[in-house]
Formats: sequence, structure tokens, C-alpha cells
Amino acid sequence: MTRERFRPPDHETESFLLTTVVGSYPRPAWLPEIEDAHADGSVPEGTVEEALDDASRAAVNIFDRMGLDVVTDGEVRREGMIEYFARFIDNMEQDGGGDGTGWNTGMPTIVDEVSSSEPWLVDDYRFAASVTDCPVKVTVTGPFTLASFSQPQAYDDVGELTADLAELVAAEVARLVDAGVEWIQIDEPGLGISPHSELAHESLSRIAEEVPDDVRLGVHVCSGNYDNLAPEMFSFPVDEVDLEFASDDADDPADVLAAWDGDVDIGFGVVDPQDRDVDSIEEIRARIEEAVSLVPPEQLTITPDCGLKPVKRPIAREKLENMVEAVEAVEAAMDAGEVETA
Ligand SMILES: [Zn+2]
Repeated sequence: MTRERFRPPDHETESFLLTTVVGSYPRPAWLPEIEDAHADGSVPEGTVEEALDDASRAAVNIFDRMGLDVVTDGEVRREGMIEYFARFIDNMEQDGGGDGTGWNTGMPTIVDEVSSSEPWLVDDYRFAASVTDCPVKVTVTGPFTLASFSQPQAYDDVGELTADLAELVAAEVARLVDAGVEWIQIDEPGLGISPHSELAHESLSRIAEEVPDDVRLGVHVCSGNYDNLAPEMFSFPVDEVDLEFASDDADDPADVLAAWDGDVDIGFGVVDPQDRDVDSIEEIRARIEEAVSLVPPEQLTITPDCGLKPVKRPIAREKLENMVEAVEAVEAAMDAGEVETA
């Protein structure tokens, strides 16, 4: 069991609902401008590195101060969840393209067998961990999603490419474990769009080989419905499966979780990242109460549905602050015996 270790020592209630983020936090508006200026050579050397550090520090501090139990760096160093990784993977070549607005901007081309010889996220993790006392979770785009959002020119099928990418992700996960990361989340939004649970199972099994018992391994699946992934996704070899339930087009959690056998823990999305209006504390509280009615609190992680990148920073921040407040209200109500739990 690797969950209870994330309970903060000063946590006020007996009941404990673990809170964290899933996905990318909005990047500061000034960051792409500095990156562009850097590409043009019109800012002094070191400026873009300093800007990326500041953006990361800001995201970590926002999460830390609002009271999330486990933080990330908001993925603010990443221009996209595919592109950032393509930088480090040999023969995964950026073609540009895309509209620059979403997580799937641009589609790299796989021009030959993939390989990688350098760390991807270890420095990003070390920086984030150096600016907070909270545990830092690291998110890694999963092999299936990397494969399915590429043009696999040099491969016969997505399965072969997924298997090769799983080797590279596993090697990076091993480096992250060595660096001291306590929680690794593999992001597989590609599965929501194209439900290849068998491929996902195989690649997650390979990754899990590198993860010792005292490190938490999760997988996040979004961008679609879960009909074609359940019950298989509940048997993935991970500690936690993170799902979206707050968005307008999300599936009914009771239907999805009817197939859950209680083996993996559940990350339950309670904040809608697409809605520009801030989810109210009451709305979020109702979603959390539904969550605890379906999943025992000791197996539950409360999160936003996905990355909050689609909304502006102040909105994203308010949404998360409301989530933390709603969680505290439900924890207090559970202590008082006022909430029915699974
Ligand atoms: Zn997502």
C-alpha cells in the first residue's frame, strides 16, 4: 500500500481523501513569448531557462499553498504532451503542424526504430522537488499515446511501436525511481480515443517492472468513454487508475465503476477542465460525495478530470482551490458520520 504515506502530518481530519492534480496546468502567457524570443536569438543566454524555472516554481508553489497533498510541476515546461517527449526520442521527428491549442498539437513522424539515450524528466523533477516539501508526482506520456499520436512510418503497426516506446518509457521510469520520485503517472488519453486495452496492459506491465512497491504507479485515461476499456482497465498492473467524471460528456461514474472489482485504487475527476466557469464548491462537493459512495475513501484520490490547460490561469487556480475546500468539507462531514461511504 503506497497511498497512506501521502497523508500530510498536519492533516486535520481523521478522514483522508488524497488530493492531487492530473495533467497540465496553464502555462504563463509570457512563457511562449520568451520561448519565441529565445528562438529568434533576441533574449540573452539563459533567459529561457530562467523563465522555465520560474514557471515551474510558480506552479509548484500554487499547488503547495492551496493545500494539495501531492503536487506536480504542472507540466509547464512542456509545449505539448507528445512534442516534449519527441525531443528526447531519436527518430521521432517533429513535423510541426497542429493548431497549438490542445494536448495533441502536431504529429511527429517515426522515421526509423525509436531509441533514446538521455534522461527526459529527471531534471524537471529535481527542480520541482527542490522548491516544495510536498511529495512531487511525475507524469509521463504513455507508450500507446506516444505511438498513436505519431505517424508510424517506420513501423508496420501501432503495437510494435508501442512495445518499443514502452522500453524507452520504462527506462525513464527507472531513472525517475532512482532520482527518488514517489509517484509516477502514465498518461494514456490515446486509450480513450482508441481502446487498445491489451496493448496498454502489456506496456504498463513492462513499465511496472521498474517500479518498486514503495513507489506509486498510476495511469490516467481520458478523452473518450470507458465502455470499451472497462473492465480491462481495472486490471492494469498499477496502483491507481485516474478517470474523468466531471466533464459534460463524461460517463456516469456509477456505470463505469460497476465493472470495478476493488483491486486498483481510483482517481476520481471532480473538476471540469473544459468549462470556463469555475466549478462551485457545492458542485464539487456533490461529485466527491458521489465518489465516496462508490469507492471506499481509503482507495480514492480526488483530482480534476484532466489538465486545466484549456482555461486561463486564474480560473484554473480557483477551480483547484474550490476542489481542496470541497474535499475538506467532505472529510469533516465523514468524520461527523454525515456522509454515506462505500
Ligand atoms: Zn487527461
